[in-house]
Amino acid sequence: MTPGSGRLAGRFIALGVTGSISAYKAVELLRLLQAEGADVQVLMSLSAARFAAPLAFEALSRHAVESDVLALLPDGRIGHIVIADAADAVVVAPATAHWMAAMAAGMAGDVITATCLATTAAVVVAPAMDGEMYAHPATRANLARLRDGFGYRIVEPEVGPLASGQVGIGRLAAASAIVDGVVAAVQGRPIRNPDPAARPAAAHPKREADLEGRHIVVTAGGTAEPIDPVRFIGNRSTGRMGVAVAEAALDRGARVTLIAGMTSVALPSAAHLVHAESGAAMRAGLLETLHAADGGAGFDALVMAAAVADFRPAEPSPTKLSRGEALALRLEPTPDILAEVGRLARGLDNAGQPTGRPLWPRPVLVGFAAEAGSLARASGKLEAKGLDLLVANDIAEAGSGFGTDTNRVTIYRPGAEPEAWPLLAKREVADRLLDRVASALDERDAGMQTGGIREESVR
Ligand code: C5P
Repeated sequence: MTPGSGRLAGRFIALGVTGSISAYKAVELLRLLQAEGADVQVLMSLSAARFAAPLAFEALSRHAVESDVLALLPDGRIGHIVIADAADAVVVAPATAHWMAAMAAGMAGDVITATCLATTAAVVVAPAMDGEMYAHPATRANLARLRDGFGYRIVEPEVGPLASGQVGIGRLAAASAIVDGVVAAVQGRPIRNPDPAARPAAAHPKREADLEGRHIVVTAGGTAEPIDPVRFIGNRSTGRMGVAVAEAALDRGARVTLIAGMTSVALPSAAHLVHAESGAAMRAGLLETLHAADGGAGFDALVMAAAVADFRPAEPSPTKLSRGEALALRLEPTPDILAEVGRLARGLDNAGQPTGRPLWPRPVLVGFAAEAGSLARASGKLEAKGLDLLVANDIAEAGSGFGTDTNRVTIYRPGAEPEAWPLLAKREVADRLLDRVASALDERDAGMQTGGIREESVR
């Protein structure tokens, strides 16, 4: 079903998730509401956020999850009031006994009760709890008050196995039944406010195809430096950040070459994939992309997100080493691939001597720097490697670094103050980064049209 059709087409639905073990089921509900054409904004109580990851709801709904009744939207508006004023319906699923009690008493201590109190929209409540809790006179009275006193539509829970191991009433109703409840609640009511500006802003605004016609090379993952044919020295990089950049670039119309080292995430099949396990293989793969058939630059931008080993065994054994007393490995430094590409782009050889053949048009070069504890060395790396942009993150910080879906990064550019970005989904970091790459390329091309000098930097 397309967003333009469906029983909730054009509707803005607030989905309130409270702290039940069935909070994860709200993800399916969100998808079904969207499949009916609704724009869905998720509200979570603090305990719900312990049962189900807000990031999943944010990524799917494309709105930042509201969970703090005191927080303002990024544009300064009060989140629950904006939602209360724009929503066609508020659906609370799962609704816990505690939340129903708070709501029945009009206690606006969480973002969902606050929204319900502030709205004139239809409210649909789908309770989920233990059977005894559901049967308790307090819960019965609260439920009756929500239904008869406030006019809320109740989607009754089902009988079945409960989280406690018992069988009884209390299982959250099927997502399709809750969707039917929402559809029935809004039936006959006009869409309250179709203006997107009246709703909370999209968290991940869809980018246009602003990289169409561009070739972006991305490296991702860690490298494996052989000790012998079986063992290697590796690192904890999963490739998530680089793959997010590759996917975002593809979505924006770029042709993408993904040079993948050791990764543990799915690689986008729409990219031209080059597998390169060791740093040496990655260097070879990258150098092959450097020039196009006509001798010009082979790519418009390089995003070097791979965690390339800085050291490798100096003499890898050609045969499997057998068990022995102790093994001392001598490590040698690896060539800095990015610094080398930086030199070649500027028309310098590895000794810093001019080759007379700078890459033209000059590609935009982006490096990553994983630092532990401080970013003090980041701006030095920007200069040493001849980069247009360096994305530095402190891997010691929670939510940043290897294996996470989020990253908190600081952006370094020549001649500009470092820019600290908030904790973001890696995909959003990728898109914001590509915003910079796209505009650097546009500036480069504008410079070329107005007779920019060949050797001029794109910065
Ligand atoms: O100096 P450092 O290893 O922190 O620099 C990180 C950046 O340099 C990353 O973009 C990484 O991909 C790149 N790099 C490289 N070759 C190496 C080591 C790092 O291209 N041997």
